[in-house]
Amino acid sequence: MPPLIFRKGLDLKHEVAHLLVERYHSDLVATVKEADYRYQSGRLTVHLAREFGFCYGVDRAVDYAYQARRRFPDQQVFLTGEIIHNPHVNEQLRGQGIRFLSDAGESLDALTPEDVVILPAFGITIELLDDLAGRGCTLVDTTCGSVLNVWKNVKRYADDGFTSVIHGKYWHEETRATASQALRGGRGHYLVVLDRAEANLACEYIRHGGDPAAFLGRFEHAVSPGFDPNVHLQRVGCANQTTMLSSESLEIGETFRQAMHDRYGEAELASRFRAYDTICSATQDRQDAVTALLAAEPLTLMIVLGGYNSSNTCNLARICAARLPTYHIAEPEGLLSEAAIRHRPVGSKHESTTMDWLPAGPLAIGLTSGASTPDNLVGTVIRRLDELAAR
Ligand code: SF4
Repeated sequence: MPPLIFRKGLDLKHEVAHLLVERYHSDLVATVKEADYRYQSGRLTVHLAREFGFCYGVDRAVDYAYQARRRFPDQQVFLTGEIIHNPHVNEQLRGQGIRFLSDAGESLDALTPEDVVILPAFGITIELLDDLAGRGCTLVDTTCGSVLNVWKNVKRYADDGFTSVIHGKYWHEETRATASQALRGGRGHYLVVLDRAEANLACEYIRHGGDPAAFLGRFEHAVSPGFDPNVHLQRVGCANQTTMLSSESLEIGETFRQAMHDRYGEAELASRFRAYDTICSATQDRQDAVTALLAAEPLTLMIVLGGYNSSNTCNLARICAARLPTYHIAEPEGLLSEAAIRHRPVGSKHESTTMDWLPAGPLAIGLTSGASTPDNLVGTVIRRLDELAAR
C-alpha cells in the first residue's frame, strides 16, 4: 500500500484558525501597521519594516501541524525536526504532544504504520522520505512551494547533464533536501557554495584547473558522492537555498557565468551555464523592506528578531549590521534591561551580552523579524522596548 500523504491540508483549517490567532497574532502589531508601521511613546519611536515575520510557507506549515494534531488525536504525531526555525513555535507544538524525531531518545526505527509524521516547510531528503514511506507512516507534507520550485530546477539540471551549484549552507535541512534532489538517483551532481569566497575558489578551478584532491578536501561535505571537479564543473546550473542573501546569490551566479565564459568562450556559454534566481519572494520582500527602512529613516539601532539558526533572519541581520548597530535577538527575553541585551553578533556562532546598548536621548529603533517569527513575539518586543526606554 502506498503511504497516505496529505499535501493540501487536512480539511480542518477553520477548526484550528482560532488557535493560530490566539497564539501568534498581535493586536499591537496590527495597530502599529495601521499607524504607518510606527510606534511612538515618549522618547521612543519604533519603525517596523513593511514586510516581516511569518511568510506564506511558514503560515501553511504551522497551520498543517495544528490540523494534523486535531485530525489524529489518538495517534502519535511526529515532526522530523524543527518545523520552522523558531524556538517558541516549536515549543508550542511540543506542548501539544507533537514529538520531534530529532530529539534525544527518539528513533525512526520506533515508527509504526499507525504514526503520523509531519515534514517541515524546508523539505526533507529523498532518502528520508523513502524511509518514512517504507515504514507506512501517514505523512503530512508541508514542503513550501518555493522550495519545490528549486527542486524542479535542480532536477532539470541533472536531466540535462548540468551540475547544480547551490548557494546555501550544506548543513541546512533545505539545502540537504535540495542536494538530494540534484542527485537524481545518482545521475546528477552538486556543489554547495556558502559565500563569495567559496564561489571564487570554485571559479578559479573552472578557469585554471587545479589539484582535485585539494578541491575535494576544501569542499568535503559540500559535493555529491563521486564528484570530480575536472568533470563535474564543465556544465553548471546555479540555484539557491531560498533564504540566502539575494544580492550575494546574484553575484555568485554572475561569478560562475563569468568563469564559464572565460574558460569556454561566448559560443559555448549557453550550453555550459544556466541560472535561475530561486530566492523565494518572501525572503526577497523582507530583505527589500529592511533595506528600504534603513534608507528612509535615520535610526539609532536595529533589532532583528528570529531564531539564530534561521537563515533568512541571519541575512536580515547582515544587511542591517553593515549600516548601523544591530542586535539579532532570538526572543524578546534577550532584551534583558536598559543596560544589557543578549544577542548574537553577526558572523559569530555564539550568543553574547552587550552592555550600555540603549543610548540616552531620543531613540529611533528599527525592528524586523525573520520569516519564522510570529507577530505576538514582535508585539512583545515593542512593549519591552517601551518599558526600557521609559526607565
Ligand atoms: S522562507 Fe520562503 S521558501 Fe522558506 S517557507 Fe517561507 S516562503 Fe517558503
